[in-house]
Amino acid sequence: MLKTVAVIEGDDAAPEAMRPVVEFLGSLNIGLEFVYPVVGEAAEAATGDIFPAEAREMIDRADTTFFGSTSGKSGAALTYLRWGKGTFANVRPCVHLPGCASPLANPEGIDFAIVRENLEDLYVGCEGPLGDLAPLNLSGRTIRRPVHDLGEGRYAIKAITRAGTERIVRFAFDLARSRRRQDPSRSPKVTCATKHNMLRGSDGFFLEVAQEVAADNADVEFESFIVDDFACRLIREPQRLDVVVMPNLYGDILSDAAGGLLGSLGLAPSGCYGDDYAYFEPAHGTAPDIAGRNIINPTAALLSATMMLDHLGFEREARRIEDAVQRVYADGRALTPDQGGEASTTTFCDAVVAAL
Ligand code: ATP
Repeated sequence: MLKTVAVIEGDDAAPEAMRPVVEFLGSLNIGLEFVYPVVGEAAEAATGDIFPAEAREMIDRADTTFFGSTSGKSGAALTYLRWGKGTFANVRPCVHLPGCASPLANPEGIDFAIVRENLEDLYVGCEGPLGDLAPLNLSGRTIRRPVHDLGEGRYAIKAITRAGTERIVRFAFDLARSRRRQDPSRSPKVTCATKHNMLRGSDGFFLEVAQEVAADNADVEFESFIVDDFACRLIREPQRLDVVVMPNLYGDILSDAAGGLLGSLGLAPSGCYGDDYAYFEPAHGTAPDIAGRNIINPTAALLSATMMLDHLGFEREARRIEDAVQRVYADGRALTPDQGGEASTTTFCDAVVAAL
């Protein structure tokens, strides 16, 4: 059955990774159709609107969206894909590929997934001057420096809801079980990281709800760490992790750290899942410093595409592509500069096609 993928290539170097991957997906002849919503600066020039209704309708009609990173006005489309489509779970698998240039002496066996809450926390986007808070008379609610004494400055709201926390933690437990089904040798475990010792009312609440959900999912091990301690464990013993669940900001920061552990942001894929829509994007940014040089590592885009194929029901093709990528890394002759190689993006993609 024909599946429609809306493609938004993104900005700076992102299209250089996205284009060959979309071309490659098309060459598989498995019934994928690609449509290209026009968003950002190009849409503004044509219609005066950075996210016109036509683009939104294309995304709505498509089975999924494949999104390159954005630095400019195409961010409006990203806002729609996250908050408009309710894609609350950002899944970022971190798997060591033998042959990749990890900074760790022993990266073998790293295989975990970060589940980042994608819609709440500090990303609700409510910020403003501290003076605006004066009428709320928060003096009785502050346990450290009273807000009215802070002088000129800004605030940001960190929102942790019961419903949002329950659904992300349940998602993490379901993912741990499904990873176990794929590989029965795995011991399913969910690790939660929060700053509950300092932020008792917000992160403490996230942890409390996570513990309640854990009690309903006793077939899966549960552990929790203070996020700074977790950051240290992430570097020292990443092989102990299976599924990690975190509020939005920590998940954003620590998944880039996890990408660094593997050897490059260019290796880190991601998928964002809601109840009735999902979209897929490499975890890295637009890499403006290497734009126009055809050296961006397309592995993150390729592996995001395999997550997308899984979502669309093409599991066999997804595994074949993952195997081909693994073979290219094990072979080591067609790696991009971030991996210590000299290959261009095109050469890397050609090697994956050959390995397939
Ligand atoms: P954002 O704020 O959108 O997350 P960022 O400012 O964190 O973006 P990135 O665009 O992710 O930055 O890039 C950080 C560094 O990693 C840059 O030096 C960039 O060239 C490099 N980088 C990112 N993605 C890749 C990739 N796919 N291949 C090679 N290098 C990459």
